[in-house]
Amino acid sequence: MPSVNSFVQSTKIDKLHPYYDVIVIGAGIAGLICASFLAKNGKKVLLIEQHFIPGGYCTSFKRKGFHFDAAVHHIGGCGKWSVVGRCFKTLGIEMDFYHLDPMDNLIFPSFNIEIPADLDEYLLRLQARYPNEKDNIKFFFQDFTKLYRATFNNEKSQIIEKYKDMTYGMMLNHFFEDNELKMVLSGQWGYIGLAPSKASALAMSQMMINYLKDGAFFPKGGTQEFANAIFRKFIDFGGHVMLSSKVKKILKNRISVAGVKLNDGKEISSRVVVSNVDARQTFYDLLEDNNDVEAVYLKKIEGMKESCSFFLLYLGVGGGIDLNNLKRGFYLSGSGFDTIESEWMYISVPTKICPTLAPQNKQIISLVVYKKDEFYKNVIDWKLLKDNMIESTLEKLENYLPDIKKYTEVIEAATPKTLERYTLNTNGAAYGWAVSVDQIWDQRLSPTTPIGGLYLTGHWTRPGPGICAVVSSGWGVANLILENWR
Ligand SMILES: Cc1cc2nc3c(=O)[nH]c(=O)nc-3n(C[C@H](O)[C@H](O)[C@H](O)COP(=O)(O)OP(=O)(O)OC[C@H]3O[C@@H](n4cnc5c(N)ncnc54)[C@H](O)[C@@H]3O)c2cc1C
Repeated sequence: MPSVNSFVQSTKIDKLHPYYDVIVIGAGIAGLICASFLAKNGKKVLLIEQHFIPGGYCTSFKRKGFHFDAAVHHIGGCGKWSVVGRCFKTLGIEMDFYHLDPMDNLIFPSFNIEIPADLDEYLLRLQARYPNEKDNIKFFFQDFTKLYRATFNNEKSQIIEKYKDMTYGMMLNHFFEDNELKMVLSGQWGYIGLAPSKASALAMSQMMINYLKDGAFFPKGGTQEFANAIFRKFIDFGGHVMLSSKVKKILKNRISVAGVKLNDGKEISSRVVVSNVDARQTFYDLLEDNNDVEAVYLKKIEGMKESCSFFLLYLGVGGGIDLNNLKRGFYLSGSGFDTIESEWMYISVPTKICPTLAPQNKQIISLVVYKKDEFYKNVIDWKLLKDNMIESTLEKLENYLPDIKKYTEVIEAATPKTLERYTLNTNGAAYGWAVSVDQIWDQRLSPTTPIGGLYLTGHWTRPGPGICAVVSSGWGVANLILENWR
């Protein structure tokens, strides 16, 4: 298996141009996709990334022969007719995926639910389990699917009008009485990072229906392979790239962009700049000056709230441990719809999907822990917090695998601070802006900005978070730039 950072390198310095049509800041998945489409269409594109590998949150790292995926666990929309599938086909990228079936599991304190990789099958199973809600389940999924389609096609419609101001919790209360059913239909809220009482119904439909209709996919070789495949295509199209290079400023020429200045003082000119970076940083730290940006726009950004972050534990475990009964999915601690917001853990064993991620006969266990925002407020000693979290998470895992400590050969962990350090997302925000009702759909920042030639792409802009959505964002922004170019 190739090492996680094989095939990725910066363009040789003497090959770089002093001027580019477009500079893309950040090689997250949105930046990579946007840059690739622009290069494919003949633009001179420079991609600048502060990390030494591309992918943003979609990266992997290697320890003692174990290939750990840093953040992303699976990707939606990779079927032939879905967003990622169509995007890769258009770019000519070939990638092998494992299709995850069952799609997921919800492990509640007193019962478990398996979520099949098929919407119709799931609906039937729910109707069989909750016969008193049979018709409501049917009507709920009818509306939920319509809502997903309308947001997917980016069309203003009655269904959007009906739900755009509703939280997902309100939508569930509108359809159902059964407390347990509402818990089950909320169990995957971790994938958008906001509990049903605050999350937008639109955002939840985008995520859930995407996974239920098309399934969840895992890239063969791990998530870095997904990023590397796009990166390599960008290079094939003649794109230039600077890794380990941080953009310090976006330069302006009156009210339009003029290029970028790097941390080492080097300036590179361009007609267009695309920022795949945290939007607040784009306008408050990177832009040379924001004097020409309307106060109302800046105020909106100032008031927006970023999504939650996570604690992550990566374990490389030796042979002999039996992981057959360890289910991949959410381990939820709440015992009612009102408490679904409480702490949860997501566990997966990526080597059960792709055995070559670990040395022969060894396994990887990957855990994501959600804690409410307050937990991370006022942390002074992040190292101490990390050590304590490693210990407490291992103790929880011992409930399912009593001998886990005995078999563990490698332990790595990441706190929100670690995620921030590697991607520069403020406080390690996992999903850009939180997907609350007032920060989604047309309330989320537009990819076009008040500064001429400056565009946003990724999870800080529309449509929202997750790999599938940011692929759509990168592709959409490239099309916008090409249209405006003419
Ligand atoms: C723990 C975790 C688990 C997740 N699991 C999933 C999952 O299973 N499935 C899924 O679909 N989504 C998942 N997500 C969400 C998903 O990873 C993100 O929404 C998505 O990757 C965001 O992509 P992006 O391109 O917008 O930005 P990012 O991935 O944040 O990339 C931004 C890039 O910009 C670079 N950058 C920033 N500032 C500068 C600068 N000044 N100069 C140069 N470069 C700069 C960064 O280094 C980074 O590479 C998860 C997120 C987290 C944190």
